[in-house]
Amino acid sequence: STFEGLGLSPLLISHLSSKMGIQKPTGIQRSALPLMLPTPSNTDIRDIFLQSQTGSGKTLSFLLPIIQDLLPLSSLSYIDRSIGTLAIIIAPTRELAKQISDVLEALLKMRLRAEGELEGSRMTRWIVSGLLIGGENRTHEKTRLRKGLPILVSTPGRLLDHIQNTASFNCAKCRWLVLDEADQLMDLGFEETITGILKGLDARRRLAIRAIEEGKSTEVGGWDWERPRRTVLC
Ligand code: AMP
Repeated sequence: STFEGLGLSPLLISHLSSKMGIQKPTGIQRSALPLMLPTPSNTDIRDIFLQSQTGSGKTLSFLLPIIQDLLPLSSLSYIDRSIGTLAIIIAPTRELAKQISDVLEALLKMRLRAEGELEGSRMTRWIVSGLLIGGENRTHEKTRLRKGLPILVSTPGRLLDHIQNTASFNCAKCRWLVLDEADQLMDLGFEETITGILKGLDARRRLAIRAIEEGKSTEVGGWDWERPRRTVLC
């Protein structure tokens, strides 16, 4: 099985292969990508529950669909700051958030090819990612949020803080929400914080991916959202 067969865009496939040394999908990617990639035949994307071992390729399983979904926007020749944040990834620890952000940055170095011509100067600069983990001065974070961060990786407390206190933080159009290591988020006592974050997001189009370590309970109760309709177990 290949990334082509799963519906991944040729741009992403070529970037994965030439710049990141990734040629073939892992098991979880083979299961998850067809359900999550925005393709003409996959219009009914719902909550997804990914469960697989550490090191099995879970991070790309959720980052690739998000980027493929936002890619059409990067052909805009201007930066539409009003669009705000479109994808939020929540991780339980700063270390994990930083790791996810590093993979995201590597993916966003992808060069866009427009009409067969390589546009070196206009890469995916429109799709800016931001890391909010609380180590930084809050004012700096607010400035970055005001400028617009289409993809955000954050720890829960800092994110809720900005949802509640940063007027210029616009996440009304957010369409992806990932809770990575959701069981750990619960274990660390973030249930109430996550509930607060969910209240601050527009619930009309929400995709939650709860990535959980294998062997841990799949019951992540207490959050007022629908049970996942699609469960991907690897
Ligand atoms: P993760 O489980 O997301 O933490 O990924 C673990 C490691 O596997 C990371 O170093 C990834 O770069 C790598 N990886 C993810 N997907 C693939 C793939 N399809 N082929 C080879 N390596 C991969």
